[in-house]
Amino acid sequence: MSAYTGKYAEELIATAKYVATPGKGILAADESTGTIGKRLASIKVENVESNRQALRELLFTAPDVSQYLSGVILFEETLYQKTLEGKPFVEVLQEGGVVPGIKVDKGTVDLAGTNGETTTQGHDGLAQRCQQYYKAGARFAKWRAVLKIGVIEPSELAIQQNAQGLARYAIICQENGLVPIVEPEILVDGSHSIEKCADITERVLAACYKALNDQKVLLEGTLLKPNMVTPGSEAPKVSPEEIAKFTVRALQRTVPPAVPGIVFLSGGQSEEEATLNLNAMNALNTIKPWTLSFSFGRALQATVLKTWAGKKENVEAAQKALYVRAKANSEATLGKYGGSAGAAGVGTESLHVKDYKY
Ligand code: 13P
Repeated sequence: MSAYTGKYAEELIATAKYVATPGKGILAADESTGTIGKRLASIKVENVESNRQALRELLFTAPDVSQYLSGVILFEETLYQKTLEGKPFVEVLQEGGVVPGIKVDKGTVDLAGTNGETTTQGHDGLAQRCQQYYKAGARFAKWRAVLKIGVIEPSELAIQQNAQGLARYAIICQENGLVPIVEPEILVDGSHSIEKCADITERVLAACYKALNDQKVLLEGTLLKPNMVTPGSEAPKVSPEEIAKFTVRALQRTVPPAVPGIVFLSGGQSEEEATLNLNAMNALNTIKPWTLSFSFGRALQATVLKTWAGKKENVEAAQKALYVRAKANSEATLGKYGGSAGAAGVGTESLHVKDYKY
């Protein structure tokens, strides 16, 4: 039996290819109501619908930013929100050539018998939700699986459960017209070496692609959202070139060339680190059959949030901050980022939160 050939096959391939356009990437703005509450609390802004709407309007209407974006990931509430003038956010994005995407997972639950390892829930009713989201204009989806590195982690159970869960999600999305972003995030927490992270990343990705193939997922109509291969958060740092070498090698060993694009998460790296690492990968002289781009949340929004601080008079400056980071990341997808966005230490603060829950 071959991969998915149903009615959405051609559209899925075209959408995935478009999202993976070199020079463009994804803004992850799909923080759940709880997570966005933590972000808003950090700038002393109350977590109410009007403030969430204001932040998202600021992001989606930022002048000249859409040229650097091929997609934005939304949370369900945001998919149906409008600008203050009454224009649906989905239309704002579409007019800018930006594909709306939607977070469809329902968070993680503990796996019994493990040391706090998790699996991701949200398969129940997923087909119906995908149909509704497609009607509302979404054309791709995101599902985040989480793995951690420890003395005996990730366990084989966690690797298998999360690979199966991602593959099941992916085929349900495709049957309902949404390109699945497959996100097996291996957390940076720990004191492990970059070699260990590379080894675990290769094992996890190999299991994911086995499961995706077993479940007949059309790889040409998917995107991968992995962690970069780095040392643990409590280990000494290494250069962007080192991170690039280990990350691209892990991907070469495990991700089929049928996959059009790999869009990294930032995972608590500073804004500048994430951009420099992406740039180093694209500058690397080796075989790269996929586009290597970004799907950053924190690494696109940290300075924006601080600059905005919930005040109308700061909206323009906050939008300029988003422009600076989006442009820098666009250049990094081409291996042409010169480091200007990190001038004077802006965007260099670590965004790592231990045991981060999205
Ligand atoms: P970060 O870039 O903040 O890690 O978030 C991306 C994301 O969407 C995680 O699911």
